[in-house]
Amino acid sequence: MSARKPRLAMYWAASCGGCEVSLLNIGEKLAALGDAVELVFCPCLADFKLADVQALPDGAIDLCLFNGAVRNSENRQMAYLLRRKSALLVAYGSCAHEGCAPGLANLTTAAAIRETVYRGGPSTDNPAAVVPAEISQVPEGTLELPVLYDTVLTLDQVENVDYYLPGCPPESPRVAEAIGGLVAALAGGAPLPPRGSVLGALETIVCEECPRKRLSRRVERFHRVHEVAPDPKACLLEQGLVCLGVATRGGCGALCPRVAMGCRGCYGAPPGVEDQGGRMVAAIAALTAAGDPEAGGARLREQVDAAMATVVDPAGTFYGYSLAHSLLRRARVTRKAGGEEGRG
Ligand code: SF4
Ligand code: SF4
Repeated sequence: MSARKPRLAMYWAASCGGCEVSLLNIGEKLAALGDAVELVFCPCLADFKLADVQALPDGAIDLCLFNGAVRNSENRQMAYLLRRKSALLVAYGSCAHEGCAPGLANLTTAAAIRETVYRGGPSTDNPAAVVPAEISQVPEGTLELPVLYDTVLTLDQVENVDYYLPGCPPESPRVAEAIGGLVAALAGGAPLPPRGSVLGALETIVCEECPRKRLSRRVERFHRVHEVAPDPKACLLEQGLVCLGVATRGGCGALCPRVAMGCRGCYGAPPGVEDQGGRMVAAIAALTAAGDPEAGGARLREQVDAAMATVVDPAGTFYGYSLAHSLLRRARVTRKAGGEEGRG
């Protein structure tokens, strides 16, 4: 047993803050967690400074919960620093795990995003076309902004990760089990889960937790949620509502399909699946051919194309949480003379 409390850190990179809320949301267990650890860094909760972390010896943080994608140079530097200072680094939440919504920026470029936000947005009023400079000289000295990357990265694309805690955000009961378990093991000397484990989730897919009945019904087209009133007991996907439950790791309790919303895939690819979007498209191909004795070859292709043509925003739908960690990773960009960009 350790003579001191495990030191805990939590850091927020490119994310929305929902991961911090998911930790606070563990309820009364938060008090026990607070008693069990020494919080050494969590800028979201208290006035910790970068210098506090820099002053720690390497490996001094026992457990670091890193949420958020690596979107800019500051995120990258913090990932490097916290990896060096932490014995255990957890990719906490979908952004750190698979890129999540920030990863959809990989469909475009940093320059195009800057252009839209500061010059071209419908509500932008910027007649002088001022854009933030990465370096600015002011009377007080030099101001430096982080460099926005073209490609959003996941935590394990820049540093070794010990554990993953998926979800957008991770479900609080799962957070309490996973983080509580790690802290108890660190404090009591019990064995830790094998490095690389996915914590707070299942080894199965969301469909396994979903109470809706699957009947292998053929699907010819998809609808948006406001266009149909689904049967409350039947599988949403088989009713033509996109649901990524078949391509998503379980653990949330099938929260979304239980309230008639298709799963959006926030727990990431299930075990053994490298590309969540690819798995989903394969599942749709199977559904478009279900019960059709003539399916196959050109006919199957036509059926799949017809069904896919009814999906609004296929990239955002099938890779909404996982693009940065998928086999695709990002859209191809061609830079022409004069700095003009094209997307492929
Ligand atoms: S596809 Fe969606 S609605 Fe259908 S069983 Fe799976 S999780 Fe439930
Ligand atoms: S049903 Fe899907 S999108 Fe909803 S919480 Fe679960 S994994 Fe996330």
